[in-house]
Amino acid sequence: MKNFTLTGWLFLLFTLPMVAQESVVDRTLPEFNFSEAVFAGEMHWLASDYLAGRRTGSVGNEIAAEYIASQLRAFGYTPINDGSFFQDVPLMSVRGPKAGNLLAGKYNFNSGDNLLIMRGPAAQANAEVVFANYGWVDAETGHDDYADLDVKGKVVITRAGIPSDASQRGVFQGVSKKAEFAAAAGAVGIFEVYTLPFPWSNFTRYFGGDRMSLDSGAESATIPYGFIKAEEGFLPELQKKKKGLKGSMASSGMQVTRMTSRNVGGIIEGTDPNLKDEYMLMTAHFDHVGVGAQGGGAYTPVDSIFNGARDNAFGTISLLAAARAFSEVKPRRSIIILAVTGEEMGLLGSQHYAENPLVPLESTVFNFNTDGGGYNDTTAISLIGSNRTGIDEQVEVASAAFGLTVIKDPAPEQNLYDRSDNVSFSAKGVPSLSFSPGMTEFDDTIMRYYHQVKDNPETINMPYLKKYCQAFTLAARLIANRDVRPYWKAGDKYEEAGKQLYGTR
Ligand SMILES: [Zn+2]
Repeated sequence: MKNFTLTGWLFLLFTLPMVAQESVVDRTLPEFNFSEAVFAGEMHWLASDYLAGRRTGSVGNEIAAEYIASQLRAFGYTPINDGSFFQDVPLMSVRGPKAGNLLAGKYNFNSGDNLLIMRGPAAQANAEVVFANYGWVDAETGHDDYADLDVKGKVVITRAGIPSDASQRGVFQGVSKKAEFAAAAGAVGIFEVYTLPFPWSNFTRYFGGDRMSLDSGAESATIPYGFIKAEEGFLPELQKKKKGLKGSMASSGMQVTRMTSRNVGGIIEGTDPNLKDEYMLMTAHFDHVGVGAQGGGAYTPVDSIFNGARDNAFGTISLLAAARAFSEVKPRRSIIILAVTGEEMGLLGSQHYAENPLVPLESTVFNFNTDGGGYNDTTAISLIGSNRTGIDEQVEVASAAFGLTVIKDPAPEQNLYDRSDNVSFSAKGVPSLSFSPGMTEFDDTIMRYYHQVKDNPETINMPYLKKYCQAFTLAARLIANRDVRPYWKAGDKYEEAGKQLYGTR
């Protein structure tokens, strides 16, 4: 055998791992044989006008869910939920009162102007209006703003936030509790004085419109609750009048609509006896925003349907592509395929699954999410959350196998990692990532389609969709086949949650 020179050794040292990586990729795998026509067909169906934007709670959304379930059934998946491919996601939609008014001395507050009623039933009362500092009660510290105050039958006005925190965080903490405290003290209504550093109009638009949330089972507040935008003199004058100002309050009440939407999921068992009890959870949201005014963007009588071809028929199709490929050649770890609803309403479907997992989260070692959003570079894919869970190499190898490069965490100002379903699982400690189409920045090409009626099947680059599905499937397979499971990089903001979930590893 010939002696190697030092350079020769170094050469070998640096090239060997690359050669080894290449040889890992077996080109007889099903993902190397994907058919563009299958994906084009699915794209024209899932993003067709007949599914009307797949809005959560709509018929179009249900039809998409049925399609996904029928595919998982056809691929031979085990239903995720005790014989069913569906997991119910209980939701409630809340609409603010049509009319509301608060009178306090010479000060007048009206809904749609300087009064925002956020919760509570219809009510009408002539009542004194009194100041109750923060309106906060904390059993642990003994703090009680109602201790020396008689608010029975009165309307309470408070500062925004909680005693230890008047920032946005404190305000949101207060929102969930203050109506309860005031009602327990006997008040008939409670309003906080708005002081957050963003425009009142933005705040009322955000909280005044229809809001959908997971149905917590709890009824809305038992008394009217909300915020007022008060002129400067109001609070000092109110504080001086210990017994309160003469006044009245009226609200036409919140309209609460309850509904059920559904996640869709199936499981395929891994082939490795030592690894098959570890599950990789693969997700894509199949809902979008609906039609007309529901869509939130511009529309015309000629085209009013937000088809959601990129967002997220694109990701849903890649999820089904991987599901099909894994049924043909199974990975070593077990796979959960989960198409989630309610993403556009605030990641609701993924949040519900994370709260009510159908496979224990301790056995779920990774969440690999695919979210279309948009693309402006068809030579690449985007990895949202690179360098956090140790799987970048698998994504790079898989992308290169189909001639694609990897754009790592584009548009950092958009905070994309915390804006897609993967974060529902990160928050519980499960290492997660979003795999997305190639995007260099949030530019005009992205904005032309993002949440617009133009995001329809005719504008999709189908050869690119195929490559995306191929790279996504192979990347998922390489991760599911690793000897070592993915884990948070030391110091990641979700590392602590990971320790809580899995114990110290
Ligand atoms: Zn979206």
